[in-house]
Parts: sequence; structure tokens; C-alpha cells
Amino acid sequence: MKTIIIGAGAIGMMQARELAQAGVEVTLIDKGLCGQEASWAGGGIVSPLYPWRYSRPVTALATWSQGYYSNLAESLEAESGIDPELTRHGLMMLSIEDQTEALEWASAHNNWAELIDKSEIYKLEPNLREGVSDALWMPQVGSIRNPRLVQALYKSIEREPLVNIIEQASVSGLVIESDVVVGVKIKGASIRADKVLVTAGAWSGNLLQSANVCMPVEPVRGQMILFNAKPGVVNRVVLCDGKYVIPRRDGRVLAGSTLEYVGFDKQTTEQAKQQLADTAIDLFPALAGAQVEHHWAGLRPGSPNGVPFIGAVPGVENLYVNTGHFRNGLVLAPAAVRVMTSLLLGLESPVDPEPYGFNSRALQTEIT
Ligand SMILES: Cc1cc2nc3c(=O)[nH]c(=O)nc-3n(C[C@H](O)[C@H](O)[C@H](O)COP(=O)(O)OP(=O)(O)OC[C@H]3O[C@@H](n4cnc5c(N)ncnc54)[C@H](O)[C@@H]3O)c2cc1C
Repeated sequence: MKTIIIGAGAIGMMQARELAQAGVEVTLIDKGLCGQEASWAGGGIVSPLYPWRYSRPVTALATWSQGYYSNLAESLEAESGIDPELTRHGLMMLSIEDQTEALEWASAHNNWAELIDKSEIYKLEPNLREGVSDALWMPQVGSIRNPRLVQALYKSIEREPLVNIIEQASVSGLVIESDVVVGVKIKGASIRADKVLVTAGAWSGNLLQSANVCMPVEPVRGQMILFNAKPGVVNRVVLCDGKYVIPRRDGRVLAGSTLEYVGFDKQTTEQAKQQLADTAIDLFPALAGAQVEHHWAGLRPGSPNGVPFIGAVPGVENLYVNTGHFRNGLVLAPAAVRVMTSLLLGLESPVDPEPYGFNSRALQTEIT
């Protein structure tokens, strides 16, 4: 079977790797260079933020992926020589208003969260601002250094004989004959395949529009900054009022992120930079002594309730999507890719694929 995958973010590259490992021939096409959009720009927390606030379909994918991530990171390092730095340092959440719901969720999910008091908090994070008396602590949560993850994925598929990578080639449309997709158009030519899979992140909705299919996946900008801090200033992912800091192994600290509905505009703003820096320094005053060495923005593929679209596109035979992972594409990727692989190859899916299908969802427009 010959497959074209449109979009080489974490989802597209992971999908190409998995299909090729199953013996499928893949042409992977990106409008730019592989892994340079949201999958590079994200924070890499391997958990939804405030996981109890998500619906079951998101939790099901996240839970499967979290169990699989170590295996993936080790395999990728072996294949590519690049360590994606999966680090299980835990997630500490401050100022939780819906603590009761959080603890109820935790007791139904292997006690994935517990309340901790002042003494434990400062043992875990000695440099946290003074006066924090309680926190919700998820010790199993980790983060992945996503720019390394995408590099590792690239190296892994680059050496795979069944994967043909085409970069700097924007897919301008789908080739559809009698309601069957038979290929894609790039650079004024068409390439044919048995199946076409759209993994084009925030741009996926536009591609489906060219096939007259309405899928509510829209760009949601997120800005992030990076402090050039020394190791030990921040040791865990710490989340407070929707903003977070993430330590990398070399001491650098990411602070994010904004949630902005501004279309396909990837520009950064001084105001966001200042706000992100102020929030991070308020949490960890020692960050005031570190330089902000980088500031960037990425476009998340926003979808209604953050539930991705994974499966066949109605009305166009052999056309599939795996997109709309919104704020959680890095944590959801392994499970989402496995669900898609199962659907394409007729294998058993790791989770029930039904909630990710189109049904009536394609007609909804609200992105939350
Ligand atoms: C600031 C920020 C923080 C985040 N933090 C986290 C986090 O901590 N944890 C988490 O799990 N997730 C996080 N996310 C979300 C996560 O990054 C995304 O959900 C995920 O990366 C989406 O992956 P993707 O492969 O679908 O999209 P992308 O990585 O955007 O890849 C899509 C690819 O498709 C290509 N493409 C688009 N149109 C075309 C076309 N016409 N032809 C050819 N190629 C095309 C693009 O060039 C791009 O390379 C964050 C995102 C942002 C922006």
C-alpha cells in the first residue's frame, strides 16, 4: 500500500515511522522543514494541564501514551542517536479551585495526584516563592524535550527505506476522482497514492476545505519564553493559574504559554514576553537573575473540546485525518498514531476509536 502523509510534525513523523515499520510505503510531505511548527514550539509536558477537566476521549489517549512514552523515547534514541530527554520530574499544581474534582479524578486514575503540604512542597522546589501552603502533586508526570523529539523522529524516518520525505513543498490540494482521493498536488504536479492522510496540524482544516469537508480545526497561537537558568533553579513542572514553567536537564527553563485566537499569525508580542517573564519570576524569584534567551510562538491545532479527529473522512474514500490535538499533541501523539495505524491496517485499536471519528462533530464550530 502506498500512502501520502501531509504534514511532518510530531504526528506526521510518528505516523510515517509506525506505518513504515508495518511495511507500508510512505511519502511524507511538508510545506517547510520537518518538525518546525507546533511540535517544535510546544512545551513537551507529557500530560494534559489539569487532566481532570478533560473528557474521557482525551484521557484515554493520554493514559495510553503516558504508559508508552519511555519505550518510545528509548527506541528513538537507539534509532537516531538523539536522546529526546524524557524526564519524569513530576508536575506540581498551585491554586487549584476545583480540588475536590481533581482528587475524585485521581482516585479513579491510579491516584495520579495527591495533595501535599508546605514541607513537601519546599523539599521538592526550594526556590519556589514563599507562602505556598498546599499543592496538588503528580509525581509520575514528565516532560519531553520536544525539539529533540522531532529531531530524533526525523533521523529515525530518514534512514527508513519505505519513507520518502519531501520538504519545502506545500500541498496545494487533493486529487479526487469520483469521490475517491487518489493523490495530492504539489509544485504544479500531482503525486498518486492508495491512501492520503492529513496530519497538517493547524492547517488541516484548510486542506479538507479543498475537498469540501468542514472540519473545525483552527490555529490557536501560543507564545513561550526560555530562561537561560542554572540547573536546580526549577526542578519540576510547576503550573499556576494556567501558566507553567518547565525545567530542561541543562537548567534552562521554559515559561508558557499564551492562548490566542489570532488566525495564522505567528508573530510574538512584547506584552506576552513581559507577562510570561513576570509570571515565571513571581513563581521562582531566582529566575530574575537569568536571561530570557529566546521567545517564540507556535500554532496549536485547536479543536472542539480538544478531542482530535482521527479516522476516515466522510464522503471521500481513502482520505484520513489525524489532527486537532490542540494543547496536547505531544502527549497524545503515540496513542493517536496507534489508533490511526489500527484503522488503516485493520488491527486492534489501543482505545475505542469511535469518539475521534467525524460523526456530527465536523459540523461544529466552537473551539474550546
Ligand atoms: C506554546 C505551545 C505549548 C504547547 N505545549 C504542549 C505540551 O506541553 N504538551 C503537549 O502535549 N502539547 C503541547 N502543545 C501542543 C502540541 O505542540 C501540538 O498539539 C502538536 O505539536 C501538534 O502536532 P502536529 O504534528 O499535528 O502539528 P505541527 O507540529 O504543527 O505539524 C504540522 C505540519 O504540517 C505542515 N503543513 C501544514 N500545511 C501543509 C501543506 N499544505 N502541505 C504540506 N505540509 C503542510 C506544517 O509545515 C507542519 O510541519 C503546545 C503547543 C504550543 C504552540
